[in-house]
Amino acid sequence: MTTNSSSQMPLRLGMVGGGNGAYIGNIHRIAARQDRAWALVAGAFDVDAARGHAFAASEGLDRTRSYDDFKAMIAGESSREDRIDAVAICTPNFTHFPIAKAFLEAGFDVICEKPLTATLEDAVALENLVRSSGRFMGVTYTYSGYPMIHEAKHMVATGQLGKIRTVQVEYPLEWMATAIETKGNAQAAWRTDPKKNGRGGSIGDIGTHAYHLAGFVSGLKLQSLTADLATFVEGRALDDNAHVMLRYEGGARGLLWSSQVALGSSNGVRLRVFGEQASLTWFQEQPNELVHARLNGRTEIIKRGADDLSEGAKARIRTPPGHPEGYLEAFANLYAGFAEAIRAKREGREPTAIGRDIPTAHDGLKGVAFVDAVVDCAAAANQPWFTPIAV
Ligand code: NAD
Repeated sequence: MTTNSSSQMPLRLGMVGGGNGAYIGNIHRIAARQDRAWALVAGAFDVDAARGHAFAASEGLDRTRSYDDFKAMIAGESSREDRIDAVAICTPNFTHFPIAKAFLEAGFDVICEKPLTATLEDAVALENLVRSSGRFMGVTYTYSGYPMIHEAKHMVATGQLGKIRTVQVEYPLEWMATAIETKGNAQAAWRTDPKKNGRGGSIGDIGTHAYHLAGFVSGLKLQSLTADLATFVEGRALDDNAHVMLRYEGGARGLLWSSQVALGSSNGVRLRVFGEQASLTWFQEQPNELVHARLNGRTEIIKRGADDLSEGAKARIRTPPGHPEGYLEAFANLYAGFAEAIRAKREGREPTAIGRDIPTAHDGLKGVAFVDAVVDCAAAANQPWFTPIAV
């Protein structure tokens, strides 16, 4: 059943950000150690050095590998024989670029949070640097870690849906439905500051996940888009709701909705792909199931753990069907995939299934380019696609 456990020594992971009180850092740590793929050995965990050291101590890290900041970390790790194999960047968006650039230039592999950078210029530069340095960079588009998403991708790629006609993807959240950024919520504060977050509010924070997921499963390449951004919470500088119409190469259409103000939506990522022969529906709050509806009127629920799943899905499953797996396992699949990709590169071989179809710097760049196009489009004067209704 489990194909991604390993008898090899874990790779050595360093982390920037993700200290006490941070959101995603702890998810990374749980995910990284899940398959003994990684061991956390070093970090600069906080923008405040003292808080970072206190956190490192609480994690049981060697004091000599708890650093004041990322520059000290690069200097300290570069001179060690047991230096980190990769760094995970778990900081606010605007810091991704300088931190990732510095680690890549110093010869380290990088795992970076999304969106890859706060500006398109930085994303282009970073992808170029990944190419020219020959280093590995993985980007944590969480939803591409789910086994049933890999099954969906396989079903589309092997023609089981026929030619794809439309893709509907949505990522609604509710946690920013009021101005919590003005009431001491640290995560909301930087997410609503264009300098720290980048140009896209909901579209940058979660629309990038939705955009990646739609392209990952459908295999479609975006050709053009039109967008309508809204800011419902008074005084907020960035969008908190986005509707985007998509035109893919080959004629398929898509619709993407991201929202931070959708009451009742805890983490409602939903993807629907409609082809000429069948459709697929996946919902992240029921991630162990894929609904497959066919032209002949029959609908089946494909369960995680079914015997005939694809290799890519099976490689990302740990427990028998009926035992729920979810967000943490999906994140762990990304980490196991990054470890396998790094090992395969070093050993000059093709990666096994867990190390294939993983999100990379190019996917990160595509996400930032998408945000830029959406914001530019929505900002254009006289949006011609809004035609007044006479009656
Ligand atoms: P957060 O505000 O909760 O935590 C940020 C952490 O980074 C804090 O510990 C802060 O002290 C630290 N930090 C800031 N600047 C630093 C620096 N220069 N050096 C060292 N540490 C520094 O933020 P968060 O919500 O955890 O988001 C962090 C990143 O993760 C963002 O890019 C966000 O978009 C992304 N994210 C991704 C997912 C996902 O599903 N993949 C989910 C949530 C957040």
